[in-house]
Amino acid sequence: MKLLKYPHPYKAWFTLSNDPDHTTLDRWNKLHQAIWGKLELPFSDSLFVKSYNDYVPGQVNLFDQKHLILGHSYDTIHTWGDYVYSRDKVFTHNDAVEAVDIINEFGIKPLIWVDHSSFTGNFIKNSDWGTKAYHTDAAGHKYKNFVYSLDLAYSLGIRYIWDGYLVETIDQQPNIFRKKHIRGLVFDFFYKHLKGLFSRLFKVDIRRDEDSELNRYGLKIVDFGNGRRMYSFRRFGTWNDAHIDGIPKIVNESMLNKLVKNGGICFLYTHLGKKLAAANHDEHISRETLDTFTLLKKYYEDKLINLSSFSKLLDYIVLKDSINIDMENSRIEFSPDGIRFKDLTCMDLAGQSFSFSISKSISIDGLLVYINGKKSVCHSIIVNTPKILTLSFQ
Ligand SMILES: [Zn+2]
Repeated sequence: MKLLKYPHPYKAWFTLSNDPDHTTLDRWNKLHQAIWGKLELPFSDSLFVKSYNDYVPGQVNLFDQKHLILGHSYDTIHTWGDYVYSRDKVFTHNDAVEAVDIINEFGIKPLIWVDHSSFTGNFIKNSDWGTKAYHTDAAGHKYKNFVYSLDLAYSLGIRYIWDGYLVETIDQQPNIFRKKHIRGLVFDFFYKHLKGLFSRLFKVDIRRDEDSELNRYGLKIVDFGNGRRMYSFRRFGTWNDAHIDGIPKIVNESMLNKLVKNGGICFLYTHLGKKLAAANHDEHISRETLDTFTLLKKYYEDKLINLSSFSKLLDYIVLKDSINIDMENSRIEFSPDGIRFKDLTCMDLAGQSFSFSISKSISIDGLLVYINGKKSVCHSIIVNTPKILTLSFQ
């Protein structure tokens, strides 16, 4: 019995979320109607709690728009709000306290944090001041850090964080898992041994997958201290195409076919509210971009690519990594990973499915499913083919 990469019959998994930069209410409505309305794509979304951006007045945020932007679900916060291009508003810890109240007031339970631009309170990208309660100057004087807020994010439930990088590899599989590619292996070998020299010569920070402890899906444990650990994930795409007009360029038939062929994942978190400055179409969403969203739906309906929210895919990856198959006793055990799930219950597994390839000798009736040591009362077993079964949790 072997765990399959994705729930049967999907071969790959794709997820999309809008980085709210530049998203005005009018654009939000257009995106909502196309993605969540007409096409009913099962994605979740990201939001600003407040916006003080003087470059983009009217940028959608939970505090100003309230229920107007609650037509679809959110599992991601783009920090505590947009404080970057403000003439006179300076972010402090108190703003994060207020943001938590607003998030709770609207019943939103974010699991994912994405750093924003050069925000001083970021956790990873451009600044990690948001993670430091104190800082000490060169003379040894210690100061309380006004933009610290990691404590609040953690107690709010944030367990996933963007690692600050974009990855152009279509299936997002780290290089170390691309064993088949001899060229990649040869490159890796030389890279590993010459990296130090290259970095010194060109004074650049060369970052490659094998430098970090990435799992097969590019996730990595980030330890912020005081028992606060999260998983970082990587985003697909390029900065030049990180706007709505870049979508057809990076997501198209050839990309999706490659994603299926390689059995990969795609975390596409991009600026859907931002048009290319030189775009020559009046409407916010071009015909080509709409066609791309329709194409995504087709791959989903053809059962080739699974679509979901970011958090469902992230949870799936974490849960999948802690499944234990005990063949001798026909027992499958789901365990908490200790970071995202301190405990594990039916509620945590609800909506998830896991498929296994089986041999004839397995008796389905005798199959035992345990969740953190307790017998599961919330799963059903579906025999998909004589060789594949799926555990689905309600
Ligand atoms: Zn942003």
